[in-house]
This record gives sequence, C-alpha cells and structure tokens, in this order.
Amino acid sequence: MVGFTTTIPLEIIIAAGKRPVDLNNIFITDPNCHTLIDEAEMAGFPRNCCGWIKGLYSAALHHNIREIIAVTEGDCSNTKALMEVLQLQGITTVPFAYPYDRSRTTLEHEIHKLAQHFDVTPAQADEAWHYLNGIRAHVHEIDRLTWEENRVTGEENHFWQVCTSDMNGDPQSFQQQAKTFLEEARQRQPLPDGLRLAYIGVPPIFTDLYAVTEELGARVVFNETQRQFSMPYRASSLIEQYRHYTYPYDVFVRLDDIEKELSQRRIDGVIHYVQSFCFRQIEDLIVRQRLKHLPILTLEGDRPGPLDARTRIRLEGFVEMVKARRS
Ligand code: SF4
Repeated sequence: MVGFTTTIPLEIIIAAGKRPVDLNNIFITDPNCHTLIDEAEMAGFPRNCCGWIKGLYSAALHHNIREIIAVTEGDCSNTKALMEVLQLQGITTVPFAYPYDRSRTTLEHEIHKLAQHFDVTPAQADEAWHYLNGIRAHVHEIDRLTWEENRVTGEENHFWQVCTSDMNGDPQSFQQQAKTFLEEARQRQPLPDGLRLAYIGVPPIFTDLYAVTEELGARVVFNETQRQFSMPYRASSLIEQYRHYTYPYDVFVRLDDIEKELSQRRIDGVIHYVQSFCFRQIEDLIVRQRLKHLPILTLEGDRPGPLDARTRIRLEGFVEMVKARRS
C-alpha cells in the first residue's frame, strides 16, 4: 500500500503494482472519523489545525500505511509538518511538489523522480496513463449525466469523482462498479430541473450537505475539485495532464475552469466551501470578486458530521434567495 495526502500522478503507483490509498478517503469514510481527530489531538496536534490534517495522520496509523507520498507544494501548507510527524512514527515519506508556476520542466522532473523512486519506466507510466484514462472516461460520463441529463444526484457525482484519486485502491473493480452505475443511471427518469448549484473548494467535511441541499429543492451539478481529481481534460501526455489539473496551482487557473463550467452548466448559485483553519479561506475574497454575477454562499466546516443548525439555516436562506432571484 502507498498512501498519499492529495491527488498525485496515480499512474506511477499503478505502474509500480502497488495499491494506492488516498488518506483523505479512508479518513472521511471511516465510521469513527470523529475519533480519528480526537486521537490526533491526543497525540499533540493543535486544536486550531485543519481537521483533514488530523484525520490523515490518524488514518495512516490506523491502516498501518508504511509509505506515504506527501504533496509538499500545490496542496496544503501543513503537509510538511505532517510529513515530519509521520517520519517520527517510522513511516517512509516521499515528497512530491507541483510547481506553483506550472513549469513543464519542473513538473516533468518531479514526476520522473517519483517514477524513479518506484522503479517505474516512462513506458510503464505511459501504459498506466492510457489504462487509467479509460476508467476515468466512465466517471466523466457520470458527470455529464449529472449536469446535462439530470440523472445523477450531486452526492453521487461527488462520490464517483472523489474516488478517482485512488480508484478505491483497485482500478479494475472501480471500473466495473462505475460501468454498472452508469447502466443503472442511464435508465433513470431525469430528476426535476430545479435550482442548479455549483460546489467549489475542497471536498466537504460535512456528511449530509448534498442530501440537505436536495431536500431544499436545489441540486449540485458541478463539483469543482472533485471533478479535477478525475482529470477531465484531454491531454497530450501524462505531464500535460498534470499541468491541466487546476487544483495545485493558483486560484486564477481554478477560476478560469470554474467560470467556464458555471456557464456551460447553467448555474444559479455557488456554494464555496472552506475548511476551518485552512489558508484557502483567504481565497474567498478573490472568488467573490471574480464571480460577482452569481449569488455565493461561503460555508465553513471543521469536524466531520452533519450540518450544524447555523449552517443549515444559512443554506436554507441561500436556496430561498436564489429561488426568488430566478423566478
Ligand atoms: S483543507 Fe486546507 S488546511 Fe486542510 S488539508 Fe486541505 S488545504 Fe490543508
């Protein structure tokens, strides 16, 4: 098993014949994810540190993952300290950095270093790239069925796309499950074409955000970061694929993608999710400047669990306001 702290070039792990594990996914799907956070705090993580970082730490220990790729640039400002704490536990950490300026040369060097670490040749990485892109295509179709045909819920859309980061550790079965889901979804009657919302920002730590949004008569038809995990663009090579991937780069690159999708998907309003104690909260002011033609609700989450009463009331108020604006 090879763990990682955010989406990395999965092709290298698959070509190396190892099982990929996105620590975020095993943390948030753990029935005791609350306890994982408590355990990290007991170990000495500060209360005012992001819940995801604490969850990643405990999840790695619980699953006895002995090797972890830590993304030191392009994801989280806390990862370097997390990497050091994991080293203290005897875990091998492999740093990987997305270059802030999207330099092709630097990214190629980083991917090459990662491949060398796992004894993967360029030809093997390329073969894995073609293989995984075949699987990703099914998830792209699930996304299309969400916004174009209204046959997939916002939560299903979130689930399938977020899982592409590690393909649940087993790409072959993931592919089979995605095909089965697609067959079933294509037979569904379209969902009522109510309010169409976008979800932008890191994936939510809330467990019922999509369900509550749908109860209120709105549906998320665009999950920004989760879609990025599925590598939605056609790229000419593995390196170019990870240059087109917007999440690790500056907010303006992300906003170019967001604006295009908001228009294509006929979005009525935007939920911007921010995580407590995350540096990305600062970017909310840029998001609001750039997307000022649409109503935006900024929601903040801290620990895993259902929406708290205040957040739920704010969401209800937002949906009512967007409905009134649209009618
Ligand atoms: S939510 Fe922010 S602080 Fe937390 S892990 Fe992600 S990037 Fe880091």
